[in-house]
Amino acid sequence: MKHHELLELEYLSKTYDEANIPLYLSYPVSSWWKTRMDERMFVNEYSTTDNPFLYFHFPYCRKACFYCACYKAVSDDKHKNDIYIQHLEKEFLHKLALLEISGFKDVKHLHWGGGTPTHLSLTQIDKIFNATCRHISFAHEDASSISIEAYPDEKDISYEKLKLLKDIGFNEISFGIQDFDKRIQKVINRDTQENSVRKIVGMSKELGFRVHVDLCYGLPFQGQNELENTMKTVISMEPDRVALFTYAHYPLSFPLQRQIPSSSIPNSFIRVLMSKSAQDLFLEHGYHKVGYDHFVKKGNSLHQADTGKKVVRDFMGYSVENRKQFMGFGHAAISFLGKGFFQNLLSLEDYYTAVSESRLPIEGKMGHILSQDDELRNKLIQQQIMCEFAINLSDIENQFNIDFRSYFKPELNRLDSLRDDGLVTYDDSNTITLTKTGRYFARHVAKVFDKYC
Ligand code: SF4
Repeated sequence: MKHHELLELEYLSKTYDEANIPLYLSYPVSSWWKTRMDERMFVNEYSTTDNPFLYFHFPYCRKACFYCACYKAVSDDKHKNDIYIQHLEKEFLHKLALLEISGFKDVKHLHWGGGTPTHLSLTQIDKIFNATCRHISFAHEDASSISIEAYPDEKDISYEKLKLLKDIGFNEISFGIQDFDKRIQKVINRDTQENSVRKIVGMSKELGFRVHVDLCYGLPFQGQNELENTMKTVISMEPDRVALFTYAHYPLSFPLQRQIPSSSIPNSFIRVLMSKSAQDLFLEHGYHKVGYDHFVKKGNSLHQADTGKKVVRDFMGYSVENRKQFMGFGHAAISFLGKGFFQNLLSLEDYYTAVSESRLPIEGKMGHILSQDDELRNKLIQQQIMCEFAINLSDIENQFNIDFRSYFKPELNRLDSLRDDGLVTYDDSNTITLTKTGRYFARHVAKVFDKYC
């Protein structure tokens, strides 16, 4: 990169530090969900939902990674997972009864996330999969993705476990790697060995899984060299898809992060440089960039969807269009049905109590029903800015029957300073486009249109 380009990037990364900007995995972002939700609203919103994607949450992990902001619990006691899956099955059956349905038909996507779902034993996996999936019929094999998140560690993953997962129907596996560097792993309390991961990825491919990998930039003591070494190792394993998430350091909200010295977090300039060099490296190795932070091999369903403008920003990062609506099961799981966000109880104890009493285990005041203004901004932020990097004014005007320039007058005034800094261009009267550099700051462009932040 030329000297003046570096200086420009340094200025921009300091002016537009992403540290406190939402990832826009939803709009409004979950910290703004304050509506009291109940069973009646759940049933009502489901009645307008078409074929939701199903999500099952498994909170137990072998140990806690200090950077992690997921809803998880730490235990090596297999009995705890026995108790958990009993409640998960009960919640699943309760929801079927509440919705007066015998099951879910033509399901195109089902995902097990966590926590660490691969921390379950073979018997537990078999038991909970069969207990729930006897009420689920899947769409044709080619159209379905049945996916699972995994910690790539031989303590949790064996050939037998992978084979069982494949035999019962899973076809996508997503390995959280983050970074292979030993010093970084020590600080974040992880222990991911390159040899083990290579072996596990190899077995997964041999069994026919589509392999996805999650990496992270902005970790403590991480620099361009560490990330580049990790990426090269990952590229040599040829995953179908890589998600490169940014680490968000919020020690006040996530107590475990207090174990990480704040001074070890790379500054905004280094983070932008890492994001840029990651992009260059993946493109150089034949990957296609989807949205803000995903890289896929050509032919991957996400690549096909991206070329047809059918990618959506969601809690999984980026997905194909038909994952827009989803129903979550388990501790802290989120559902988006009709126009409503529902969040399951965040305390595992409260979740067990509610399920045992045959109540819908949702947090009372942690939901949200989209207003027309939310829907409009949701499309603008999550679809146009975060996926397509361009705002199509007439598209929004036609769909929502508004005059864009008067509806968004204050926002357009604020956007002028981003235009002056070269992050967006006003191409013609109809389109606002994020520039090549502006794409690194897409979340800042989105924030201009966020009514809540
Ligand atoms: S990163 Fe994954 S394995 Fe680590 S604590 Fe979080 S959910 Fe568990």
